[in-house]
Amino acid sequence: MGLLQDKFAKYDLPQQFMAKGVYPYFRTINSHQDTEVMMDGKKVLMFGSNAYMGLTYDKRIIDASIAATEKYGTGCAGSRFLNGTLDIHVELEKELAEFVGKDEALCFSTGFTVNEGIIPAVVGRGDYIICDDRDHASIVDGRRLSFATQLKYKHNDMEDLEKELQKCEPDAVKLIIVDGVFSMEGDLANLPEIVRLKKKYNASIYVDEAHGLGVFGKQGRGVCDHFGVTEDIDLIMGTFSKSLASIGGFIAGDKEVINWLRHNARSYIFQASSTPAATAAAREALHIIKSEPERIQRLWDITNYALKSFRDAGFEIGETESPIIPLYVRDTEKTFVVTKMAFDEGIFINPVIPPACAPQDTLVRVALMATHTKEQVDYAVEKLTKCFRELGIIK
Ligand code: PMP
Repeated sequence: MGLLQDKFAKYDLPQQFMAKGVYPYFRTINSHQDTEVMMDGKKVLMFGSNAYMGLTYDKRIIDASIAATEKYGTGCAGSRFLNGTLDIHVELEKELAEFVGKDEALCFSTGFTVNEGIIPAVVGRGDYIICDDRDHASIVDGRRLSFATQLKYKHNDMEDLEKELQKCEPDAVKLIIVDGVFSMEGDLANLPEIVRLKKKYNASIYVDEAHGLGVFGKQGRGVCDHFGVTEDIDLIMGTFSKSLASIGGFIAGDKEVINWLRHNARSYIFQASSTPAATAAAREALHIIKSEPERIQRLWDITNYALKSFRDAGFEIGETESPIIPLYVRDTEKTFVVTKMAFDEGIFINPVIPPACAPQDTLVRVALMATHTKEQVDYAVEKLTKCFRELGIIK
């Protein structure tokens, strides 16, 4: 054992929860993924997936990804910059740019590395970054990698945002960065008001549409489209790991900005490009989302049904307006216990504790897919009500 091992030997938080039998992480799925999965050998209802469109096991997407593997191989063995650009990457970029209403787009191997690579590439010394304090970890990391002055405002508090904007040099670049849909709380960024402030203070806006794509706006074009503010948003980021049933991400914006990013974003230049299978899967999913509006309608029908059911049952669900339903617990240990009790009842949900939320805001996160049925939601509400009552979290 050396100093390095000594440094971590005292870290026993996982073991503490394992000893109590409520450790909730790294459960293993060994079946196909839809609203029901086999997990740790047990059949459970999946209420913890981000595959909002329910497309992860769609035959057409599977076929597209197999065909791409057969045509191009299993990997690209290089970055987009050099040997790693396939025609399907370029096609997908064109389709995504058109979909979100921007000039051009760039595809990355993960959504995380979009935020991590783009933010320090667009704002540097002398510029400002202004973030909502609930922005996703990948935005936080991108912000930390930038030499820009870093400012933060209270979650969705527009007065606080304005105060931060007033601190900035009027002639400096000021980039406001927000999740369009906040990933744990399910509420939306107040984009109309952020756009008004952008105009007042000559700022720019970057919106992370990870949880908005496929869900909000015409044909699932996202939260910017939903609010009708696409023209006023400078950069739109999205991921393929949620509604698009794959893995990867993209950034879209004006062609001058994208031209700079194509040659300067480090996670674009120095990271191997996404696999043919992942690229073709995302592309096929995009085609399906555009051509099957009934899927979005189904997602909203089941979302509205679940929102009402959880509210009526007495759960505290905050300000959510999306298929992400936070059930507040407000106690870390109880959050793990209730997650385990739900699992024993055949329901998989995600516990959310710091740093994914503030310490007083721990919750379990329920997420809906277009393929969930009302019977499945009824079952979840009934069993979760029982578990939450037993622990005294709700009356
Ligand atoms: N942004 C947000 C808001 C997210 O929730 C996530 C992932 N959960 C990411 C970015 C990163 O995307 P990915 O997991 O697809 O790399």
